[in-house]
Amino acid sequence: QHEMGWANHHEIMEAAFGQHTKALPPRHTGVAQYKAAGGYQRLHECVTGKRTVESLIDTLSNSGLRGLGGAGFPAGKKWAIVREQNAPRLMAVNIDEGEPGTFKDRSYLEHNPHQFLEGMLIAAWAVQASTIYIYLRDEYHACRAMLQNELALLKANPPISNMPAIELRRGAGAYICGEESAMLESIEGKRGLPRLRPPYVAQVGLFNKPTLVHNFETLYWVPAILEKGASWFSEQGRHGRSGLRSYSVSGRVNKPGVHLAPAGITLNELISEYCDGMQPGHTLYGYLPGGASGGILPAVLADVPLDFDTLQPHGCLIGSAAVVVFSQADSAVNMARNLMRFFVHESCGQCTPCRTGTAKALALINQPQWNVPLLQELSAVMRDASICGLGQAAPNPIDCVIRYFPQELEFEPRGSKS
Ligand code: SF4
Repeated sequence: QHEMGWANHHEIMEAAFGQHTKALPPRHTGVAQYKAAGGYQRLHECVTGKRTVESLIDTLSNSGLRGLGGAGFPAGKKWAIVREQNAPRLMAVNIDEGEPGTFKDRSYLEHNPHQFLEGMLIAAWAVQASTIYIYLRDEYHACRAMLQNELALLKANPPISNMPAIELRRGAGAYICGEESAMLESIEGKRGLPRLRPPYVAQVGLFNKPTLVHNFETLYWVPAILEKGASWFSEQGRHGRSGLRSYSVSGRVNKPGVHLAPAGITLNELISEYCDGMQPGHTLYGYLPGGASGGILPAVLADVPLDFDTLQPHGCLIGSAAVVVFSQADSAVNMARNLMRFFVHESCGQCTPCRTGTAKALALINQPQWNVPLLQELSAVMRDASICGLGQAAPNPIDCVIRYFPQELEFEPRGSKS
């Protein structure tokens, strides 16, 4: 029996993205092409007074656009909060994309960097940010070279006067630096340790200044929403949900990759309508709805709408919509072990419930028989007492195995301990 590890994901991503994984320059729409197709017009409308900040924030709020890095905070509301803070204000963009199974930001960046850059400049204009810091995952070598080049072209021929300063910063391979306050620490040149809240980064952020922090994809949709209207985005949901989501799908499906689909689509619908079904010989056994942190759901819950808020009753999270599909050839117990090894490795070590808790949890679930009451007690402590989302969400896979895959615990777990 085969354990589906993260090494396997690299093969899947290579199959999905081909030559791009080999760090060749991505094929993308350059600045001239983007401008020729009407790009930067929405930004121009903002700075020339054809749109007010208030109308911009209203449009974003009506579109239902939420933070697509995983937190799901309404974008319009965030802009309004940062705008209320005292100047100078700053902006930071998170393209660290370290959640296992997530590759949507890279996909959009590789193909259309200026749609993102225009959204970023519109947001910076709305909050009057003086400097923008882009924090890019260091493993995205080809993207960095391309983005450096496009930023140089943009600065040489700015689409607006008084364009804010833009700095491109390299991440250093730490999962925790995808957490917004750890990312800010890293940009400041310190170890990427998450901060305690309050104060929130919108009030005291980068270099102690009020900071608008956004995920790449949230900004990517801003020009399209302004061009096509709030309802274009909001009306695309399904099962009572609103908007579009970019699902990074990997695992036992025929067509893995980034699938732009209605928010609230179910896994069964996603597999049949976007992924050409399960691979031959594989039937759905379970799935990760939100990468490493989002928990594990069984096949019987493949009709739950995939969106922010819809998975909490099931003990899971959509996060950045990294959907990993597994089959009867895989084991939820082995999946939980794999994920916990990841959390042990990536815990920043700042707080005991996470630093010690992840290591103890891994030792416990590596036993042939799980001590369920002890694991549940440990989960509760990690959830309640960890400083940040990593430690709080790390027990999710364990809790899900206990809740949804008890058959794997009653007998010898399938697959070998690894
Ligand atoms: Fe660091 Fe984990 Fe504590 Fe977060 S929960 S601050 S990652 S030790």
